[in-house]
Amino acid sequence: MPIKIPYAKKKVEKKPTGGKKIPFQSPKGMHDRLPADFVYIDKIEKAIKKVSLFYGFDHIETPLLEDIRLFERGTGLTSEIVQKQMFAVKTKGDGVLALRPEMTPGVVRAYVENGLLYVANPGKFFYYSPVFRYEQPQHGRFRQFYQIGFEVLNSDDAAYDAQIILASLKIFEDVKLKNVTVKLNTIGCKNCRNTYVKKLKEYYKNKVGSMCHDCAKRYSENPLRLLDCKQEKCQPFKAEAPQTLDFICTACKAHFKSVLEFLDGGQVPYLIDATLVRGLDYYSRTVFEFFAEGVDFAIGGGGRYDYLSETLGGPKMPAVGSACGVERMVEAMKLQQVHIAPKQLYKAFLIYMGDQAKKQGMLLLDEFYKAGIPVKESFAKESLKSQLRLADKEKVDYALILGQREVFEEVILLRDMKSGTQETVPLKKIVAELKKRV
Ligand code: AMP
Repeated sequence: MPIKIPYAKKKVEKKPTGGKKIPFQSPKGMHDRLPADFVYIDKIEKAIKKVSLFYGFDHIETPLLEDIRLFERGTGLTSEIVQKQMFAVKTKGDGVLALRPEMTPGVVRAYVENGLLYVANPGKFFYYSPVFRYEQPQHGRFRQFYQIGFEVLNSDDAAYDAQIILASLKIFEDVKLKNVTVKLNTIGCKNCRNTYVKKLKEYYKNKVGSMCHDCAKRYSENPLRLLDCKQEKCQPFKAEAPQTLDFICTACKAHFKSVLEFLDGGQVPYLIDATLVRGLDYYSRTVFEFFAEGVDFAIGGGGRYDYLSETLGGPKMPAVGSACGVERMVEAMKLQQVHIAPKQLYKAFLIYMGDQAKKQGMLLLDEFYKAGIPVKESFAKESLKSQLRLADKEKVDYALILGQREVFEEVILLRDMKSGTQETVPLKKIVAELKKRV
């Protein structure tokens, strides 16, 4: 029997009540998550829980607000996120707090602050959480959005770089996203990167005058990000730029080779992209991004951040992580027309007539709750006809009908919605009877 996904096609939520509009809208770049969206979101959250259980990642959640310096030091002062996109909140006692623009620095802080270091080593965590960036809202770019992600703390083992990529791909597979591409690169460690950055600066020295305004800034502040530029006029320069792999040290090369071997072992297809550098300051060695067919923005990305903990004043602690944008995944699922099998949420619908029956019905729902059988009602509707119509729409197998007479006689009518046949069942036995049938 075809069952509707609740709210999937209706636009009922947007209809103003009684013809009047509320003179408020959700803040710019922030959106409501409506029941229709949860058809997709629930699938993504289910997938990250399933994959995490399998690969041994534990759930973690940190406060929405953190000391702003955590991001200034961690995510980095030269990153766009920190320079332009922080929602700062001035407080009386705590100095300045920021709405987290990403999860990683908070997770590292929590791991060290709570002594998890002594309990989980390496620490393997997952999250699905909202983050905030003061961006110019546009397609696929919001000011509040959700990320799902993995972090492996306190290990420099290349197997974990590969595992994080693999686990992310498993989520895409679980939510039925097709043809997801992994692009990856290595940007070396803090020692060998300097040699590379020097080469990069030499190469760009006479070119930067013909490049975009942001690139001029990148040249002096964070030359690696020159490779991240999306402007048309900068692309030809990017294509000819020196590649990290030719300049990084032997240890970094060996680490990257290992990552690739683990990926090969897991039969994970990937593309090496020598221009991939990622936008945050803390990355080192492996960096990667995920793209889904039909969507022109990255649906996720990540990499190693071996020095983040030290930068924050914590212990030496190599680590690797990934973060995927939930809204972008939903967008990709819709574009790829991912079919989500509709679920029958309710087996039965409770219909009442009169106040006494309504009260009895409330108690009965509690009994069904205890028995683990979800039963739908519509206490706001009074007529038998409209309640029956709703039961029909809900595609339930049974209607449970309680009138004044039934309450008085302590019975209930059990109506088979398919055949239309009805039988009288003692009220005391109805939960057991329905349990038998569903
Ligand atoms: P990032 O670490 O900045 O690359 O973010 C990781 C993932 O989060 C990206 O690959 C996107 O899928 C998603 N994301 C980043 N910024 C936004 C945004 N402003 N709106 C929606 N999704 C975003």
